[in-house]
Amino acid sequence: MTTFAELGLSEVILQALEDVGYHEPSPIQAEAIPHLLQGLDVIGQAQTGSGKTAAFGLPLINHVDPAEHEVQGLVLTPTRELCIQVTQALRSYAQRKGVDVVAVFGGAPIRTQQAQLRAGGHIVVGTVGRVKDLISRHSLMLHSCRFVVLDEADEMLDLGFLEDVERIMALTPSSRQTALFSATMPPEIRRLADQYLYDPVVVKVKAATLTVDTVEQFGLEVASKDKAATLVDVLDAERPTQAIIFCRTKVRCDQLYRTLRDRGMNVKALHGDMSQGARDGVMISFKDGRTPLLVATDVAARGLDISTVSHVINFDVPTSPDVYVHRIGRTGRIGRSGRAITFYEARQGREVAAIEEHSGVKLAPWVRDAHVKAAPVRPRPRRHSKPHDEPAGVAEPQVRKLIIAGGRADGVEPADVIHALTASTGLDGEAVRNVLVLERYAFAEIPEQQAERVLELAAGTEFAGRPLTLELVR
Ligand code: AMP
Repeated sequence: MTTFAELGLSEVILQALEDVGYHEPSPIQAEAIPHLLQGLDVIGQAQTGSGKTAAFGLPLINHVDPAEHEVQGLVLTPTRELCIQVTQALRSYAQRKGVDVVAVFGGAPIRTQQAQLRAGGHIVVGTVGRVKDLISRHSLMLHSCRFVVLDEADEMLDLGFLEDVERIMALTPSSRQTALFSATMPPEIRRLADQYLYDPVVVKVKAATLTVDTVEQFGLEVASKDKAATLVDVLDAERPTQAIIFCRTKVRCDQLYRTLRDRGMNVKALHGDMSQGARDGVMISFKDGRTPLLVATDVAARGLDISTVSHVINFDVPTSPDVYVHRIGRTGRIGRSGRAITFYEARQGREVAAIEEHSGVKLAPWVRDAHVKAAPVRPRPRRHSKPHDEPAGVAEPQVRKLIIAGGRADGVEPADVIHALTASTGLDGEAVRNVLVLERYAFAEIPEQQAERVLELAAGTEFAGRPLTLELVR
């Protein structure tokens, strides 16, 4: 088994990996990191859940010189959610080296991001549209950008961003190093790679190893009219810690959400017609475990890394085998196992066969497990119930509430609060809960045991353009 040290990463990065608790490289990391450290261009065929962020992120941080105050690395992402996620990961790896990572994405005040770019920023992680916008406003210069990553390139293609990606690439030095990560390799992405990568090494994690090893996959034939009732039955039998339920369209997503909500379940919906603020709120409450069930469309749930997801339920058959792989990649993350259950109608046998062929797995028929004691899915907490809906038998952690100076009026977003509390403290992002951003203040809860230490380490760090002031709420 290869170790991170054998891959050639610098000591400060190895220490950061110890901080985040990664003990050994995932297959895509073991393969891609040595090539990237040598300065070669890489095409990584891997999806979220494989550890691809560290596969490109660690060599990127390794290359950056913190003493040089220019943007040295750019990571382009298709969605805002992925942008925030990649930023959080890179910040945790970069913290010890003193490398600044700035996130730029749409739907948030551009002035705050311009200020962050002016203040520094060795690595910029951004969505395509916002990066383009900041370039046109001369707030983002890429002339010193030596390392460019295109993350989830196939998603960029699906969302129609390819031309913009090419325009941005054209503004970076031709001597740059480029890494392109994509779960699938449609012809347009191959062409992009041919044009913008120099003699790339291809590293692949086969879809089969992504799914087979860690995700048990089931199929369940059900008539269209019985789907909602069957879903309730399946949730009742499976008792997921957290599940994402995928629907084909926004309308179906909303309908199903309402049906489940009206049955008293603790559920939220996530789809593209919701405002960014509403989407962020849903994401945060799902990520911190307060919401056990999420009904989502494919676009909204793209690239999400939610390591606690125990179940993926395909309420509607995915539109293609690739979409199936993307969806079930939400569960069975590194070191965990998951279950994926796909509902299909009698007429959809061909689509199921295509999925089975693509993933190399035969979907086992789902049957209600006789020995699993039926119990209702956890009911929605009432106003006065405890704030966290933990699975039965798990002791509720003691938490302390913090008040932080700075709010919406200062351009603060929930992700900024999480970053402020984790970046210099070593606190895990997952440990920050119930983030609430008001006009001038923000609140968050963190584990009591770490509260004093976080307070000490985070106070005075940069937040909303000034030193962070925070205190415990008595
Ligand atoms: P990604 O595919 O980059 O979205 O990563 C999926 C998840 O795996 C994230 O929660 C990472 O923090 C985690 N992860 C990545 N690399 C490792 C590793 N070598 N050991 C343990 N966890 C990892």
